[in-house]
Amino acid sequence: MPRSRVAHWMVWMLERSLSRWARELGATLHQVESAMPRRVMMNSVDCGPGDLFVALRGGQRDGHDFIDDARARGAWVMGERADCDLQVSDSLVALTKMAAIHRRELKWVVAITGSMGKTTTRRLVQAAFNACMPKPTLATQGNYNNHLGVPLTLIRATRESQAVLELGANHQGEIDQLAGLVRPNVAAITLAGPAHLDGFGGLAGVVKGKGEILDHIEPGGIAVLNRDDSAYGIWAARADACNQLSFGLDVASDVRGVRDGDGWLVEHQGRRLGLVLALEGDHQITNALCALAICVASGLALDDSIQAMSEVQPEAGRGQYLRLSTGATLIDDSYNANPQAMRAAIAQLLSQSPKGIAVLGSMYELGQSADQLHRELGAYCRTIGVQTLVTTDPRIAQGFGADAQEFADTGAVAGWIEAHTGAGDWLLVKGSRGARMERCFSDFIQGE
Ligand code: ATP
Ligand code: MG
Repeated sequence: MPRSRVAHWMVWMLERSLSRWARELGATLHQVESAMPRRVMMNSVDCGPGDLFVALRGGQRDGHDFIDDARARGAWVMGERADCDLQVSDSLVALTKMAAIHRRELKWVVAITGSMGKTTTRRLVQAAFNACMPKPTLATQGNYNNHLGVPLTLIRATRESQAVLELGANHQGEIDQLAGLVRPNVAAITLAGPAHLDGFGGLAGVVKGKGEILDHIEPGGIAVLNRDDSAYGIWAARADACNQLSFGLDVASDVRGVRDGDGWLVEHQGRRLGLVLALEGDHQITNALCALAICVASGLALDDSIQAMSEVQPEAGRGQYLRLSTGATLIDDSYNANPQAMRAAIAQLLSQSPKGIAVLGSMYELGQSADQLHRELGAYCRTIGVQTLVTTDPRIAQGFGADAQEFADTGAVAGWIEAHTGAGDWLLVKGSRGARMERCFSDFIQGE
């Protein structure tokens, strides 16, 4: 490939030749000394001329089986075999080292963890950063928040000055590793809740696991903490050596949400500003307050940040409002669920319509208390006034009582929705990803 074309494409990787990467990673270089890779790719199908394909082992596939394919597309290869251009002893470790080198290019890094609301908070902060900061912001795409997604995101850092990254985990030690790589200037925890209880070993384990982010804040950095969360004191003590900024409805919060009739105000340093979001549901206020605290910690003006956040639209499966061909309005929250997120979404449904129909699927990864938590959710629906409960989970049905509409699968629920809903009805559909509750309505979607 002519060098001029390579130079033109050099947007995603630092300008380093393969031989320099080999030196920095302690890898063996087998050929093409002066080649300058432009992007890093995990999937050979995505490769083009000048890319670096990283052959990773793991899951059901071994990336080394796709080396020929990547080469045929013009890519160089980093992997653990002698036929790779850059040979390393562990491809994932090498990729992570590359990411650490790219991290050094960034001047200001925000990392967000928590049991819920990470992606939403990241999107809100990203909108504010894009509107208010002069240089482009590097941000997590989709849900690339784990040991692969975080390095792959960091590797995109070149010309950007700031980054907003989501860190996800389902067991202890994971955030420790990710935050150690990311070295945030601002570290935020949205909240701790009953998600991945099996992997974390209960709620106390979740609090501890999410708190790991606080051990990696850069000198002079800021911890952004949720004052409404019962774990606030634990996290504040863990981040004792750092500057802190709290958010929440609690009167002592630095960035505080205040109810104002049907709407919300934000209070900070004696100022009160209106907060209007395109995202529905009071739980989104928590995410917005967290995002605003991150913006304040990053030196942005509160009013500009609020303005930018008001434009952010809900994503598919996360509280999006859809019209069904039956005439009913759907709150599509089918992306995921846990007991706390279920309660928040049910409150949202009932605030729209006291007769709202709750269509609930199973919640996964809840460990030993799973049965009890499902029964409690059914009972909660009864207590809070849900009149019609449709579910594919017998435990939720049992908790609700004999008049629950219980079905064996999502296909049967779809039949019920078609036959029993119409104009004026409101439905909430929610369940864990594995329950694939979107199948209940995918045939009936008309639009937003
Ligand atoms: P994941 O762990 O899958 O990456 P996430 O932490 O990125 O999730 P989001 O994608 O922002 O979270 O939201 C996913 C779902 O979590 C939402 O659809 C909603 O049901 C629930 N949720 C988000 N924020 C809150 C909150 N503050 N309180 C309660 N539930 C929430
Ligand atoms: Mg996410």
